Amino acid sequence: MIDYDALEEMALEQQYMAAFSGLSKTYVPGEGDNPTAFIIGEAPGADEDVRRRPFVGPAGQVLRQLMVLADLWASSVQDSTGVNRYPGAPNCWLTNVVKFRPPKNRKPTDSEIKASREYLIREWVAVGSPKLIIPVGGIALRAVTGKPISILRAAGKCHKYLSAHTGKTLYIWPMVHPSYAMRLQNEQLNELLEQDWERLGNWIMKERTSPIGEL
Ligand code: URA
Repeated sequence: MIDYDALEEMALEQQYMAAFSGLSKTYVPGEGDNPTAFIIGEAPGADEDVRRRPFVGPAGQVLRQLMVLADLWASSVQDSTGVNRYPGAPNCWLTNVVKFRPPKNRKPTDSEIKASREYLIREWVAVGSPKLIIPVGGIALRAVTGKPISILRAAGKCHKYLSAHTGKTLYIWPMVHPSYAMRLQNEQLNELLEQDWERLGNWIMKERTSPIGEL
């Protein structure tokens, strides 16, 4: 189902992008299994750059906890200190718009987003064109839609799109980036984020068990 050759080819082709505005030379690939959903973040941070895995830093820890709420992370266990550890792989495909860490974790530029968009679409096709796409944060939403839509207005709701590639309906569920909530340290926003992911989880369950079986 996942075309690993296509993913590898894409990774090699994208190496030229590392020369863009001083991006890291380390390619951080997407990862996952059983991709019924395609989750897209912004770009790797320091931890991701070292471990070459998406969302393994502090924002990633929060995202993984949120993914558990929607049953998009396969398993979670608590260690003896009560800290949640998330072994295994995501129960979806988890990736970033830009695959190289920007210097000082700055936001990806418009030209980096534009250059990454073609690869993001190819990655989506290589993992089986999942009908459910979850852009996490405004950069990912921009990469998916090609438009500067407000993430705060779009987040937590299902938006239907007709795919130009498959001709089929796509379900776009934008979500607020966990690092935004972490920066604001706003309890109410954290609760809203949890509610958004729980609502998504309920929706996935309903779609999977519906007679049409859309997902
Ligand atoms: N780590 C990632 O891999 N992506 C983000 O968007 C943030 C942190």
